Formats: sequence, C-alpha cells, structure tokens
Amino acid sequence: MSTERTFIAIKPDGVQRGLIGEIIKRFEQKGFKLVAMKLIHASADHLRQHYADLKEKPFFSGLIKYMSSGPVVAMVWEGLGAVKTGRVMLGETNPADSKPGTIRGDYCIQIDRNIIHGSDSVDSAKEEISLWFTPEELVSYTSCAESWIY
Ligand code: UDP
Ligand code: MG
Repeated sequence: MSTERTFIAIKPDGVQRGLIGEIIKRFEQKGFKLVAMKLIHASADHLRQHYADLKEKPFFSGLIKYMSSGPVVAMVWEGLGAVKTGRVMLGETNPADSKPGTIRGDYCIQIDRNIIHGSDSVDSAKEEISLWFTPEELVSYTSCAESWIY
C-alpha cells in the first residue's frame, strides 16, 4: 500500500440530513489525514464534468439535478491505501447491497440518494481533486499519524 489521496464528497442529502459530522468523524478516527475541505453549492456544469464518465447513463440527468440541489462537503483525505479503503468505508453504490458498518449501509436506502461520493481509483482521484480544489487549497501540515511518538 502507498500513501494516496482520495476525493470524498458528502452529497446534498447527507448535508441536509445532518450527517456531516458523523461522516468526517469516520475518516478522521480511521486515521486518514484531512488535506482540504469546503462546503460548496456546485453548478450543474461542474457536476457534469465530475460525472463525465456517466453521461450516457439513463440516470445522468437525475444525478446532476440531485447533486446540484444543495451544498456538498468536498474533501481530500490522505493516507495508506486511502482510495481503496475509502471505498470500503462507503459501501456499495446501492445502499441495499452495503453492509452495516459502512456509511451507505448505515445511513441510506436508495441508490439515487446515497449520501456520499468517493473516488474509485488513484487516477480518478487525481482528476477529481484538481476539478474541485486549486493546488493552494491542498494544505500541507504534519498529522500525528505521520510522526508516531511510540
Ligand atoms: N446512481 C444512480 N442510479 C444508478 C447508479 C448510480 O442514481 O443506477 C448515482 C448514485 O448517486 C451513484 C452515482 O450515480 O453514487 C455515481 O455512480 P457510480 O456508478 O460511479 O457509483 P459510485 O462510484 O458513487 O459508488
Ligand atoms: Mg463512481
């Protein structure tokens, strides 16, 4: 495993339902390092870019409407295997297939209201991070997990 960065976003339903703290808590307590974060009401154009891979899917227009319906919390988390482990923490795309203990398994029931996004590969994470954040917004500092006392 190597140190990676992943793009995680709490979707408008997660924000509206008051799940911001709970979701951040899971990534923080897991031991990942928060590198960037902002609350942003993204435009439909921005979201069409974010989900460009899915533009031929029948659910695409509904997805853009959903994602632009309110603010999202956009974040970058860093750590060993952050992309893959982040996806495990999210659960499956369809909450009905997500195990209890995962974010989607614990907090939602509908595939089209599944409260959280996470990058699915290191390459897509790089693209997503550069779409949502400027290089200056990625903050450089040392977290305790990078300088063990014992
Ligand atoms: N989605 C949907 N209906 C579907 C499949 C996906 O509304 O049948 C939405 C859902 O919000 C999902 C997003 O489109 O999170 C992106 O789909 P993807 O296959 O990339 O799933 P993810 O990577 O988010 O698990
Ligand atoms: Mg995806």
